[in-house]
Amino acid sequence: MESGSIPSFDLKRNYARVEAEIKEAVERVMASTQFILGPEVAEFEREVAGYLEAKRTVTCASGTDALILALMALDIEPGDEVITTPFSFFATVSCITRLGGRPVFADIEPASYNISAPHVREAVTARTKAFIPVHVFGQMCRLEDIIGALSSKGIATAEDCAQAFGAHRRADSRIIRAGTWGELGCFSFFPTKNLGAFGDAGMVASGSEKLADRLSRLRVHGSASSYLHDEIGINSRMDAIQAAILRVRLRHIETWTEERREAARRYGLLFAERALGEHIELPVETPGNRHTYHQYVVRATRRDELQKFLAERGVASRVYYPLALHLQPCFGYLGYRKGDFPEAEKLTEEALALPMFPELTMPEQERVADAIAEFYSKRAK
Ligand SMILES: *Cc1c(COP(=O)(O)O)cnc(C)c1O
Repeated sequence: MESGSIPSFDLKRNYARVEAEIKEAVERVMASTQFILGPEVAEFEREVAGYLEAKRTVTCASGTDALILALMALDIEPGDEVITTPFSFFATVSCITRLGGRPVFADIEPASYNISAPHVREAVTARTKAFIPVHVFGQMCRLEDIIGALSSKGIATAEDCAQAFGAHRRADSRIIRAGTWGELGCFSFFPTKNLGAFGDAGMVASGSEKLADRLSRLRVHGSASSYLHDEIGINSRMDAIQAAILRVRLRHIETWTEERREAARRYGLLFAERALGEHIELPVETPGNRHTYHQYVVRATRRDELQKFLAERGVASRVYYPLALHLQPCFGYLGYRKGDFPEAEKLTEEALALPMFPELTMPEQERVADAIAEFYSKRAK
C-alpha cells in the first residue's frame, strides 16, 4: 500500500484496537493445548447463538463448508434442484454441485441486489429441494414474500449469511436476525468478513436441535461416538484459536457494525453534496432492514474507467462480482446463456465496492468522493 492511499479494508487498524485482548485469548488456548473443538469452541457457539437468537450453532472450518454441511443435513442428493442467485460468491453455488445437486438460478432485484421473490417462485419445480438466499453485501433478502410458500411445498431454506453477520430485518411484525429465518443459516468468518477470524472458519445456525445434532456429527466424519460412523461426513471443525479470537471480536461487533453504518451515512451525504446522481447510484437500505455494509457497493457509469482513475488517485475499489455465476465456464453444462438474468448481468457491469471498514475516516471518504467527482467532471468536458 503506497502511503496516503485508501485501502478497500484495513485489518491492521482493526487489530490495533483489540491486540491485547486477542493476544491474551490466543495464549490461553496455547497453554490449554486443546486446539480443535473443545471448550473454547463450545463457549463461542453458545455466545454467538445468544447474539443471533438462534437455538443452536455448529461451527466448522469455513463458510464454504458451512454451506456444504447445511445441504448435507438437508439431504441434498444428485439430481435435486436448489434455487439460488446468480449474483454471489462462487461457493454459494459450488456447494450445490459438490453434492451432485443442480443449481437453478433466479434473477435479482435491482435495488437491493438480492434475489427476487417473484423470480424464485417461477423457478420452483417438482424437483426443488432447497433454496439458498444470499444476503448480499450485508443486507437481508425480502424472505417474507417467499419463505412460507416454499416451506409449504417442503422446500427448505439455507440462508447464506457469509456477508450478513449482525444484519436483521423487520418482517411479519417481528425482528428477524440473519441466519435464523430459514431452517439453517450459514456463516463465514473469513478474515475480511464483518466478524472475521485469523484464518478460515465458519458456522451453521439451526432452529432445530435435530438438524444441529446431525451437523455436529457430519463435521466429524459422520461420527457421534469414537470410531462408529452412522453416515459419511466430512472433516470440518473450528480451531480453538479461531474460536478464542472470535469470542473477543464478538464483544465488539455491535460497535464495529454501527461504525460501518455511520460511514455509509457519511458517503450518502458526501455524494449528495457533489450531485453525482447521474453517474453513481448509492446502495439502498430497503425499509425494515439493518444493513451491515459488509461492502458499500455503488452502481457506476463507465465503471472500469472509474476504477482505474481511482487507483491512480490512491483510492482502492473492487468489483464484486465481475461475472454472474450462471456464466461461469465451469457451470456451462447447466445450459444457461447470456441474457437469462438481465438484472444480475447488468449489475456485474456497474457494481463497484468503495472502501468500507469500521475505522474508515471522514477525510478519507471525502477523498473518495472528490476523486469520483473529479472523474465525472473531466469526462463531461
Ligand atoms: C465468503 C463467502 C462464502 C464462503 O466463505 P469462506 O469462509 O470463504 O469459505 C460463501 N458465500 C458468500 C456469499 C461469501 O461472501
